[in-house]
Amino acid sequence: MDKFSSYLPRISRKIPLRRVLILPFVLQLSIAVGLTGYLSLRHGQKAVNDLARQLRNETTARIQQKLEAYLETPHIVNQINANGISTGLLDIEDFITLEHHFWYQIRFFKSVSYIQFGNTQGKFIGIERSESGNFNVEIRDPEVTGEDLYTYYNLNVQRWHNVANDDITRRYDARKRPWYLDAQEAEKPIWTDIYQLSNRRQVRLGIMAAQPVYDNRGNFLGVFGADIVLSQLSDFLGGLTIGKSGQTFIMERDGLLVASSTKEKPALVENKQVERIKATESNDLLISSTAQALGTKFGDLTTINESQQFEFELDSERQFAQVLPFRDDRGIDWLIVAVVPEADFMGQINANSRTTINLCLAALGIATLVGILTSRWITQPIMRLSQASEAMANGQLQQRVEVKGIDELETLADSFNQMAIQVQESFAKLETRVEERTAKLLEAKETADAANQAKTKFLSHMSHELRTPLNTILGFTRIMNRDSSLKPEQRSNLAIVSQSGEHLLSLINEILTMSKIEAGRITLNENSFDLWHLLDSLQDMLLLKAQSKGLHFLFVRTTDVPRYVKADEGKLRQVFLNLLGNAIKFTKQGKIVLKATPSPENPHNVNFEIEDTGSGIAPEELDTIFETFKQTESGRNSQQGSGLGLAISKKFVQLLGGEISVTSTLGKGTTFRFNIPMQPAKAELLAQTSQQEVVALAPGQPNYRILVVDDVKVGRMLLMKLLSSIGFEVQEASNGKEALEIWHNWQPHLVWLDMRMPIMDGYETTKEIKASPQGQKTIIIALTASAFEEERAAVLSVGCDDFVRKPFPEEEIFEKMAKHLGVSYLYEGQQVFSATGADRLGEQEQIKALASMPATWLEQLKQASGRVDNKQIFQLLKQIPQQQVHLVSALTDLVNNFRCDKIIDLAKQADEYHRHGDLQR
Ligand code: ADP
Repeated sequence: MDKFSSYLPRISRKIPLRRVLILPFVLQLSIAVGLTGYLSLRHGQKAVNDLARQLRNETTARIQQKLEAYLETPHIVNQINANGISTGLLDIEDFITLEHHFWYQIRFFKSVSYIQFGNTQGKFIGIERSESGNFNVEIRDPEVTGEDLYTYYNLNVQRWHNVANDDITRRYDARKRPWYLDAQEAEKPIWTDIYQLSNRRQVRLGIMAAQPVYDNRGNFLGVFGADIVLSQLSDFLGGLTIGKSGQTFIMERDGLLVASSTKEKPALVENKQVERIKATESNDLLISSTAQALGTKFGDLTTINESQQFEFELDSERQFAQVLPFRDDRGIDWLIVAVVPEADFMGQINANSRTTINLCLAALGIATLVGILTSRWITQPIMRLSQASEAMANGQLQQRVEVKGIDELETLADSFNQMAIQVQESFAKLETRVEERTAKLLEAKETADAANQAKTKFLSHMSHELRTPLNTILGFTRIMNRDSSLKPEQRSNLAIVSQSGEHLLSLINEILTMSKIEAGRITLNENSFDLWHLLDSLQDMLLLKAQSKGLHFLFVRTTDVPRYVKADEGKLRQVFLNLLGNAIKFTKQGKIVLKATPSPENPHNVNFEIEDTGSGIAPEELDTIFETFKQTESGRNSQQGSGLGLAISKKFVQLLGGEISVTSTLGKGTTFRFNIPMQPAKAELLAQTSQQEVVALAPGQPNYRILVVDDVKVGRMLLMKLLSSIGFEVQEASNGKEALEIWHNWQPHLVWLDMRMPIMDGYETTKEIKASPQGQKTIIIALTASAFEEERAAVLSVGCDDFVRKPFPEEEIFEKMAKHLGVSYLYEGQQVFSATGADRLGEQEQIKALASMPATWLEQLKQASGRVDNKQIFQLLKQIPQQQVHLVSALTDLVNNFRCDKIIDLAKQADEYHRHGDLQR
């Protein structure tokens, strides 16, 4: 469910379903339509190219055909006339018949504009089709009209119309004209050059077919001629349609225009002179640029021997062109040219493309609209389903979805609704079940909590009950041990008491530690310390024990092992003590080696290895030795230990961040290995703690008043003795009430306060004292036998300045007082004068020093000592001036060692010295 609910919004954050439905639809359509448009355009272009090619071919072919037919006619006319002469049907002398004959002919051959004949005698007859459609006869007959007369006769009105009298006509002699001369010379039918037909103002270009005639004997008789007008060719070309704006034209090889499809005349009249124009100079841009393109493409136009198609650009538009040579054996050599702009065809194609694009857009629009509608139709129910699922995932289980119209979605909605109902029902069931279970669990938890609390209470109580008397036992054995008057036997008994006490204490401590571990109450207390020093001190501590068993006891530490480190020193020390202790315990001969090396992978990780040549552990027991209360055969035989040491060690190593392992061979020895990560620490942060024994207060300090409060007398006495032995002024109280009274009257600098007492406990007392401003200055250090860490917090919260757990090492007591009062001490060996100093200071010096005190004071000291009134003696010692602090220490020590007899002795001798100024002994 959870997975599902987190999945849903993620989808919606990506692509909405609606877009998923529309996009591919529109995309497909666009691609299809676009592709069709593109292909149709491509095909259109290809079709246009094909079409243009075909069109040009056809057009030029048609022009060629027309030209052939057109140019054949005048030659046919000439041939008929020539045949008439040679067959004798026509008489060249009979101009009347010739005129009739020519007139019939010109009416029949409509393309011919002039038919003529000139003979060798200079006779000439011609009949003309005028532009207006009339027919005129022109005759020059020197016999009839005189040498120079030229007659002009209009046939339509059937009368001589005019007698040409001007210079030109008078002088006209066909025998000198080029058409006559060329034909005579060629002796075969020829074409003349293109020429201006009549000497009129407008341009009327024509070309004449000329043919020489001979008599039966082959004698040259004259020349027949037939003219055609080129404008007829232009009319024909103009009548052809090639594309929408295509043009055709005919040109000579020298580039002169013959005819064109435009209305343009192929010549100009300038100063009564007729000037032919070149195709390149045509007024029509398409014709002139086509002629230019021909020039650039083929260079010399005479080289074009066959039909050629070519393309060129005009105003950046493509033009399709074709050139076709036209020749005959009578001297015609022309080029037929057709040109058509691509735009003529592309117009339609482009229009088609535009239509296609518009259709595409319209189709797209419609498709998108349809897509939106369809997707809305589909997505709305899905959205409703998804919203309902989301709501369900968020715990709103009463979700129902109504969907109509789409079969599959209806089914989906139905299934969803069914599922929702089921989920709702199951949820309800589950809830009641969870409630039931929770209630049961709560009950069980309460029971467990109660049991746990009972256990904790029991442990706390037990620890107090056991540790308090043990503390007293150990404390007094220590004090007794200071007594130099003890006999060796007593001293060895005392040692046994002390050892058993220590053992018992360690057992209790182990059990307590284990229960604390099990209750999860062990925490890591990291501090910075000197690891090398720790190892050295452990070696010092255990060396004697090992050597006493005849074992080699070696510590090997490489120099790259970090020295100043941060870790839980106490726990690490405990682990070492456990493992080394076991090694010594279970090794009868050989050696014990501790190796410390930094781990190769990480220099802040130190590997430790403790190897012994002891009894070893059987393989089947190796797996269980780290379990609580598990001992091996040899362990049980040793009748020592609890089977807790390794379990505690393992827990501690884990707590320190490492792992412990063991390898062992039965009868050969055992090796324990563990590694501990250690943060480097700065050397200067480490306080140099002295392990030396405190023997007295250092001279020159104020008189410290210390109050010791404990309901247990032995506990009180232990502290009293310890403190007064080095020179503190001490008073005692057995409960809070007494303590308050003494505090009021005596104002001690510091109170050692037991927390558990009848009448008024330590907590109450602290609150009372700390309530007044004066009390704020009094240092209160709590004493507790509780093994639990919480105690510390509770104690500090009521106002205690510090906390010491019983049983305490002496050093801790001295250290706390140094910390809170700034007390400084004299340590063993630091001064010649020491705690057992009476002997060492030298009695003489002591007597001399005592002798410097007033006689009354000496007397009081003797009396107090006689009464063994320690309180009084300490009062008197306070009167000794500061510079004699060594004397105070020596006397305090004697008091603490119950040597009042010695004090009396010393006082007596001082008296003597006082009186005689000399020492008796
Ligand atoms: P104990 O208080 O009995 O020493 P431990 O948990 O420290 O409890 O040890 C459990 C048992 O493991 C020991 O009783 C002993 O049988 C075995 N053991 C521990 N260390 C060694 C060792 N160095 N050599 C042989 N056996 C050992």
